[in-house]
Amino acid sequence: MDSEEFRHHGHQFVDWMAEYMNTVSDQPVRSGVAPGDIAAQLPASAPMAGEDMADIFADFQEIVMPGITHWQHPRFFAYFQSNTSPPSILAEMLMSTVAGNCLLWQTSPAGTEMETRMMEWLAEMIGLGSEFEGVIQDSASSATLCAILTGREKATGWKVNEDGLGAVPTLAAYASVEAHSSIEKDVMVAGLGRNNLRKIAVNAEFSMIPAELEAAIEADVVAGIKPAVVIACLGTTGVGGMDDLRAVGEICRRHNVYLHVDAAWAGTALVLEENRHLIDGIEYADSFIFNPHKWMFTNFDCTAHFVRNPGDLTRTLSILPEYLKGRETGSVIDYRDWSVQLGRRFRALKLWFVMRSFGVEGIRQIIANHIAWAAELYEVVDADPEFEIMSPLRLSLFSFRYRPAGIENDNDLNALNERLLNAINDDGRTYLAQTLVNGRYVIRFVTGQTATTRDDVLAAWAAVKEIAESL
Ligand code: PLP
Repeated sequence: MDSEEFRHHGHQFVDWMAEYMNTVSDQPVRSGVAPGDIAAQLPASAPMAGEDMADIFADFQEIVMPGITHWQHPRFFAYFQSNTSPPSILAEMLMSTVAGNCLLWQTSPAGTEMETRMMEWLAEMIGLGSEFEGVIQDSASSATLCAILTGREKATGWKVNEDGLGAVPTLAAYASVEAHSSIEKDVMVAGLGRNNLRKIAVNAEFSMIPAELEAAIEADVVAGIKPAVVIACLGTTGVGGMDDLRAVGEICRRHNVYLHVDAAWAGTALVLEENRHLIDGIEYADSFIFNPHKWMFTNFDCTAHFVRNPGDLTRTLSILPEYLKGRETGSVIDYRDWSVQLGRRFRALKLWFVMRSFGVEGIRQIIANHIAWAAELYEVVDADPEFEIMSPLRLSLFSFRYRPAGIENDNDLNALNERLLNAINDDGRTYLAQTLVNGRYVIRFVTGQTATTRDDVLAAWAAVKEIAESL
């Protein structure tokens, strides 16, 4: 494809993209295809001869689009959003054109220096201050893996990297029962073994019980097991539980255990001063992550990973073969030492575009709206005699279940709510997801899509009510 043809299709695609943003709300949120429908339309092998972009684009619209669940639909209230915004998309276009690889300062001076500055902006915006330095990772899963590896190495005097896990006592990690599944996976990948992840009980508010954490650490020490890392969560995935960083942090300090904070979703809400109480005790944290790719209008992938002592992270991950040395090595930041992956995208550019385009005030306003609309709906659901709130409002997340008069048994209610959720998502006007709360099947509602309005929230609820009554 020459540059003229590229220009032609580029303009055509941008027109399509703008139209998509204008009309996505007319689509069913969740794709209605059945398993295998898309694969059946894709040839078994790659074409031997190149094809016209016009044909490829036509197939994109006919084959691919029906199989898209519209995460950017303003009535997407499932999981946690993976939102984007026009400035972020424009930055992605530029970034994928330049397609630099930000592994070393030298391979991308702008990428490196922009990344450092963007992490400073973010730290200031969410009230972390200047005590942390940051790096952009591809996902919360990867960032937490880096934290667990750092905790593992610190706990063993950097011995595992040299001699393997066989050379040290058994190591343990700690997180609440509500912590995200990625933490368990990271513990497995780091070689600690999932049986050595202590899942600490939570209280009625779904926060880790500090006394249980301390008891688990002490029991391990008595058994000759070395506590390596505690992962505290701000905003657990099921119900938005918030761990008490001060109480957890004091225990970590007493027992000299690395403290990592997973605020993948909730971190963005710290742009609002009124939520800063959630990071009371942050001075105890060794690292902290949140995902602008969830709630801060920045395309996947973009995880902000803050560390108090970058030297611990780079000592854990650094390997320097000859071909990766540069004239500046040692006097500049080479982010390859800060992550598992070597090659790195220029992710800072989309943060720069988003933060400049919205401004801090603009970001705050949208987040405040999301939280206010969730609170408004929470009151509506709470007041509805046919529905029951199942977990308290946490920022923009709460959960509920349908409980019409005459159905009291939990098994029956579980089955009814599963049927309701499937019907809601088949209907397509909105998209919600489920979780278990104290063993009961509940429906989660979380606001966070960039273009969502108050009307979308109310329309989604009207659809839920209508579908429930029709069951
Ligand atoms: N932590 C929490 C609290 C999450 O909710 C999620 C995903 O929803 C993750 C971690 C994993 O995020 P990622 O997809 O960026 O790895």
